[in-house]
Amino acid sequence: MAQEEAAAKAASRRGRVYVGNLEQVAKSARKILLGEVKPSAVGKLVDWGTLFSLWPVHFTTSCCGCEFAATWSPRFDAERYGALPWLAPRQTNLIIIEGTVTKKMACALRLVWEQMPHPKFAIAMGACALDGGIFYNSYNIVRPWEIVPVDIYIPGCPPRPEALARAIVELQKLIKEKGLASLWISKGKREDKPTPKLKEDPCSWWRG
Ligand code: SF4
Repeated sequence: MAQEEAAAKAASRRGRVYVGNLEQVAKSARKILLGEVKPSAVGKLVDWGTLFSLWPVHFTTSCCGCEFAATWSPRFDAERYGALPWLAPRQTNLIIIEGTVTKKMACALRLVWEQMPHPKFAIAMGACALDGGIFYNSYNIVRPWEIVPVDIYIPGCPPRPEALARAIVELQKLIKEKGLASLWISKGKREDKPTPKLKEDPCSWWRG
């Protein structure tokens, strides 16, 4: 009985925002707008908006970059999926790692990732970005998943533009099905795929 009363009381409070303590009001509003565990209606809207507003930052390290460029050419026209490459990390929410990541480039990769606002996502493109590719046993190679949390891997050397377009569609499905964007905003972090803890500072060669 007491449980029923508590449930009825909680149900009557649902949807209210109390004015007074600004911090509490902001927390209540965030809960109502985005939901705590499952995406709410507004959360779904955030996810829907994010999946058609993907801005991949240019992170071309090797020859896969040519396929990246071709993906947005008139022939393949990936812009129709709702993704458009952009230059500045601070205005982008998707990083596509196009090829080999060397120890020196690992520093740039991490810096760019940290500059991007959340919610943000990562795609690793090509055999080199998966496991080093033809440079798999080279002394200067870093696996991208050691530096940033990779959502989608695209095999191939090089992968065709259609494969990259497919990866974008798969990422959109992930965002929609798991509510990744809204959950990230409501929780302030990505719990299912946290940013990897670095074993060593990838920029130590640069910082000196
Ligand atoms: S996967 Fe092939 S095409 Fe892509 S960066 Fe490596 S060698 Fe170049």
